[in-house]
Amino acid sequence: MALIVQKYGGTSVGSPERITEVARRVIRWREKGDDVVVVVSAMSGETNRLVALINELNPDGPAREKDVILSTGEQVTMGLLSLCLQAMGCKARSYTGRQAKILTDSAFSKARIREIDGTAIQTDLDAGKVVIVAGFQGVDAEGNITTLGRGGSDTTAVALAVALKADECQIYTDVDGVYTTDPRVVSDARHIPKLALEEMLEMASQGSKVLQIRAVEFAYKYDMPIRVLSSFDDGDDGKSTLVTREEDMEEVMVRGVAFNRDEAQLTIKGVPDKPGVAFDILGPISDANIEVDMILQNVGSDGSTDFTFTIHRNDYTEAMRILQVTAGALGATECSGDDRIAKVSIVGGGMRSHAGVASQMFEALAKDGINIRMISTSEIKISVVVDEKYLELAVRTLHDAFGLSA
Ligand code: ADP
Ligand code: ASP
Ligand code: MG
Repeated sequence: MALIVQKYGGTSVGSPERITEVARRVIRWREKGDDVVVVVSAMSGETNRLVALINELNPDGPAREKDVILSTGEQVTMGLLSLCLQAMGCKARSYTGRQAKILTDSAFSKARIREIDGTAIQTDLDAGKVVIVAGFQGVDAEGNITTLGRGGSDTTAVALAVALKADECQIYTDVDGVYTTDPRVVSDARHIPKLALEEMLEMASQGSKVLQIRAVEFAYKYDMPIRVLSSFDDGDDGKSTLVTREEDMEEVMVRGVAFNRDEAQLTIKGVPDKPGVAFDILGPISDANIEVDMILQNVGSDGSTDFTFTIHRNDYTEAMRILQVTAGALGATECSGDDRIAKVSIVGGGMRSHAGVASQMFEALAKDGINIRMISTSEIKISVVVDEKYLELAVRTLHDAFGLSA
């Protein structure tokens, strides 16, 4: 008998019919003799609807209250699924983040899970119940409701799988696995049956939203296999992607193309070229819990230099405000920014041992007249920042240039 954690995303629970399908699938797994913990997202569109309501009334209001609102979508789904299972004769019990004792820090809207006490859930499983947990939410040490960032139900699922020592964490979504790039952007993207967690980590961190990055980080750290599958397949033997830490996987030069349009770029010009300046600029940004992605410092001249960095587009206004204060303190000449940029990355474990991947990438982009604004590399990925209007072209171009199309 295995313990399986299954997570169902928004479209998988988007209507009473879809929830009934999920209940049927859960019951099939139970009938095989497995214990099942189900993590649910809000019904599709619901979190966006809540965000819009917040923005209508008080977009700059306290993050604590926003999380109270945003966490409600998942709570509706968990109750509905529990009712549905019980109507079908299957014992079930639902848990909010707090009831499941998912303890997080207090970084509202992007909280990190610190600890999960799975004792109560285990007792219910031992009593033969299906346990349903609201994704995307937790509780901080003061008892405040927190949320884990968009797409955070994936992280709830993997963290629960780790805490309960599950055999596998299954992520049910609207695609039957991970593809070489987003199949909605490139229609001949290829299905990847097996993928190294390390590569998935880069794909997710470069914007492949099929899995939330923190979910992959958890899985990597605790060696938890993730299987991505479609809740729209009939039966349980459809295609899927298994993401594991397996060491002997064949290394492919470029595994996939990831992209992220939620980027913004900020530049501060004419700052003193001396030790400590990077910290002076980025310290206040990180104190505001804003994650910085790429960083570029120009070669200084006349004792001053320019400094550019990228962040999530949602943080743009706040980051610009902070940067302007810093500029005043440092006597900088100018702050500027652009929130219409995007990032495209190629990812692959085999890049480590192949020279010339970067030049091949730059050549392909140049042929299509796509200007590169910033570049960053790691062992297994190369990312470039481009104008947002070139994003889709850049993705298709690179997907073709590296022979990824089906
Ligand atoms: P859910 O609501 O189930 O969490 P998401 O929308 O968060 O679903 O994630 C699934 C979506 O991820 C797919 O519909 C697809 O458009 C997108 N996606 C982006 N990159 C990839 C990729 N490399 N492979 C598969 N899907 C991808
Ligand atoms: N409902 C949340 C969102 O839309 C969390 C999730 O679906 O994973 O981002
Ligand atoms: Mg998701």
